[in-house]
Amino acid sequence: MHQSTLAQLSVALESKQISSEELTRLYLDRCKKYNDSLNCFITINEDEAIEKAKFADQQRADNKHTALTGIPVAQKDIFCTNGIKTSCGSKMLDNFIAPYDATIVEKMNNAGFVTLGKTNMDEFAMGSSNETSFYGAVKNPWNTEYVPGGSSGGSASAVAARLAPIATGTDTGGSIRQPASLCGITGLKPTYGRVSRYGMIAFASSLDQGGPMALTAEDAALMMNVIAGFDERDSTSAEQTVDDYTEKLNDSIEGLKIGLPKEYFGEGLDSNIAKIVEEGIKELEKLGAVCKEIELPNTELSIPAYYVVAPAECSSNLSRFDGVRFGHRCEEPTDLSDLYCRSRGEGFGKEVKRRIMIGAYVLSAGYYDAYYLKAQQIRHLIRDDFQNAFKDIDVIAGPTATGTAFKLNEMIDDPVSMYLSDLYTVSVNLAGLPAISVPAGFVNNLPVGMQLIGNYFEESRLLNIAHQFQQATDHHKAIPGGFE
Ligand code: GLN
Repeated sequence: MHQSTLAQLSVALESKQISSEELTRLYLDRCKKYNDSLNCFITINEDEAIEKAKFADQQRADNKHTALTGIPVAQKDIFCTNGIKTSCGSKMLDNFIAPYDATIVEKMNNAGFVTLGKTNMDEFAMGSSNETSFYGAVKNPWNTEYVPGGSSGGSASAVAARLAPIATGTDTGGSIRQPASLCGITGLKPTYGRVSRYGMIAFASSLDQGGPMALTAEDAALMMNVIAGFDERDSTSAEQTVDDYTEKLNDSIEGLKIGLPKEYFGEGLDSNIAKIVEEGIKELEKLGAVCKEIELPNTELSIPAYYVVAPAECSSNLSRFDGVRFGHRCEEPTDLSDLYCRSRGEGFGKEVKRRIMIGAYVLSAGYYDAYYLKAQQIRHLIRDDFQNAFKDIDVIAGPTATGTAFKLNEMIDDPVSMYLSDLYTVSVNLAGLPAISVPAGFVNNLPVGMQLIGNYFEESRLLNIAHQFQQATDHHKAIPGGFE
């Protein structure tokens, strides 16, 4: 049963093949059994989950349920969960019990989902390998000597190992798509503003976006139907009407115009990855899509622009963690300045401190014009590149990541190499576009994802293409050895 998709679990619950309590216990047993080796959960909510599952069974008996009532989910530990520890992967929030639910969590709870636990992540979502977590690195189920990607590495590892049928992630510069690629699952980063950020701990507010990490595009669509929509508690959430994301899944993609950016297939891309992605694109051509080469000339500026904008916003967002209101407080501060310095010095890890310092620097009076303003101008150029491209094509296809999963500790002392591995994902966030990563094959038994980028609010189209691809291929069905 744990190999099932959401769509299959929904049928199994409806036909009473299994109860939510049985299903929840089955997943909880797997979580407990494998968490020692994968470290993908920070918190496992056994008691609350079983309570919630019993309630879901009652709702089904009373005919007050939705199609998803009683299905377990893993929530990334960046989302506030009422009464449950919400650490954001940091010592700073190790003692923080959220007093309310994030909108995503509230919507999923209302739809009847059962929260199994909170998944491990890079500290404050800063990282690409899940090694910056205060709770230790997460392991990739395809090979536990390798990273799962980051920052939503706990969610990706949990779904890939079938410890949860679906999970939430957040993507500021690739953190849904890159771990989805490295763990062989499907991850959708929605358009900026499509899913509420209320209760999602902020990293870089103009880039952050929550979304589904699932086994299939169909499952991602089912979850999008629950979480998407306007939220008056998030002033950046979009008032745009919400699609039924399952409606177009089965549409033909005959005649679909795909753009292949020449900048995505050149230097920097591992040739084995290029081959897999090219085969994936051929598969889409067999389904009737037509491809043409396009240019996104400012691609090479996306990493430098992102690593100015994201730290700038993080230095501002993280100023609230000062040891006064909540979070870590140092022992016996001598005065206010000592309280700030030691609480922050002890509470934050190395990567977070590095970003805060870069951010404070690029925002400082003397350097604002040279760095922050320039980065914002580049951001406009990148957005314009995409808009020019979308005049002639429907979607863009390419790799999600520059390589497969890398070995634990291989890059942790080389932040610049780590930053460069975000080459194909960050420009999507700078432009605020939606994008999906789908499993496309393997290199040395490690998964490779193919990325599809759409125009604003075209999540339905991306899910349709991804679903058609998954109807024609089996890559998304592969299960890592030892987790069957
Ligand atoms: N790897 C990128 C970073 O370190 C993206 C992180 C994210 O999307 N949260 O900032």
